[in-house]
Amino acid sequence: MVQLTFYGGVKEIGGNKILLEDHDTRIFLDFGMSFSRRGRFFEEFLNPRTANGIGDFLAMGLLPDIPGVYRDDLLIHHGRPPEEPTIDAVVLSHAHADHANYISFLHKDIPVHCSRTCHRIITAVAEQSQRDIEHEVLDYRRRPIKKTDRGVPPVKRTFKLFDNHDRLRIGSLELEPIQVDHSVPGAFGFLIHTSEGTVVYTGDLRSHGLHANLTTEFMTKAKAARPIAMITEGTRIDRGRTGESEHTVYQKSKQEIAACTDLSLVDFNFKDVDRFTTFYRIAKDLDKTLVISFKHACFLEQYHHDTSLGVPHTIDDHIMLLKPKRMSGTYNVDDYHDDYIRRRLSYPNILTADDITTHPCQYIVVLNFWYFNTLIDLHPKHGTYIHSLSEPFNEEMEVSYNRMMQWIQFFNLHYVQAHCSGHINGADLRNLIRTIRPKRLFPIHTEHPGMIRLPIKTTRVQEGKLYKL
Ligand SMILES: [Zn+2]
Repeated sequence: MVQLTFYGGVKEIGGNKILLEDHDTRIFLDFGMSFSRRGRFFEEFLNPRTANGIGDFLAMGLLPDIPGVYRDDLLIHHGRPPEEPTIDAVVLSHAHADHANYISFLHKDIPVHCSRTCHRIITAVAEQSQRDIEHEVLDYRRRPIKKTDRGVPPVKRTFKLFDNHDRLRIGSLELEPIQVDHSVPGAFGFLIHTSEGTVVYTGDLRSHGLHANLTTEFMTKAKAARPIAMITEGTRIDRGRTGESEHTVYQKSKQEIAACTDLSLVDFNFKDVDRFTTFYRIAKDLDKTLVISFKHACFLEQYHHDTSLGVPHTIDDHIMLLKPKRMSGTYNVDDYHDDYIRRRLSYPNILTADDITTHPCQYIVVLNFWYFNTLIDLHPKHGTYIHSLSEPFNEEMEVSYNRMMQWIQFFNLHYVQAHCSGHINGADLRNLIRTIRPKRLFPIHTEHPGMIRLPIKTTRVQEGKLYKL
């Protein structure tokens, strides 16, 4: 008997945590952070307390209260006895936080299956971010952290890495990971062969990126498996055909940057290797230099070592690293304490904001809103700013967006929006579902699960309810 229980991703975008059980085998498909649920109660200066172990997360419903899943140190800290794991594995579709981050709370003996590329991204995230309880996917520090723990290495999780077309055996299940097109490399959908038949899980995907052929291949294989059920993402089910593509982003951005006589600035998500490739290509085409941060370098170097991605190393003719102003404000070597910066300070292609101001037209600076104070040192006069991210879709994002626009106006920047979504549009999604033709459909990762409207038995999923297949 096969059954599904959804503990996240229900009437919300992200936070996927899907329990699939086949006789004695129990796996989770993703174990992500729910941004919407977290944002309902918490914000920048109001966070779940680490001092309460796992308690605040369970109390406020950020994590489901189910036995045999969580780290023993967090349970003990919360005043509960430790539990033996009752889950065989987590199968992670890709490295976005809304699918991966709450692995941070899982028992160390639950192995995580993910793609080799996905593991590289998780490694880059860990290298350049401060450790906190919601960002401990790769490894974790036992809580509460005591003074005597200094020097004690973190507890490492077990990762089992797969490549495209590998077959994984977990208990009674056989899984076929098939790579799909998404806004992060190493994203996979799965054919899960159970004792009752095949269950398809799409993860997140799209059909308009640079690797749309991967999604087509996934669709063909999923169809051939004659699935008894399909769990599909439906982020943009409410959108028809949009005509967007990575190529349009490239064309529009290149035109704007070519026309700019001063500094060009751009913001995009560095996990999106296709978007990096777009702006790197533009820099090369226009014989300019793409200026990235030390944080970006952590990602770029992980990508570079993954030969399938064809990405340059940080030390490249068209790339330079922007040294941030810290401590004394004089770029003195002693100002830098972060390991990810220190280990790269000897690179030959490092520059400062002052260096950029001597020939601003020569550079395309990748600058995220959180680092906009760097604009004070860059002081562009007639620059162009390309916002290569999605437009705000909630109140919190609106507030930041409006503040960002104040900076744009203050520095007289020409604002350009150039982006394409990481998610499949409604028309392509209906085509995907119609082609695969599962016996039963479970739409998740969407605020509009009722909008699928196809002649296929569709379940309006309820959180925590058990569905037998
Ligand atoms: Zn995603």
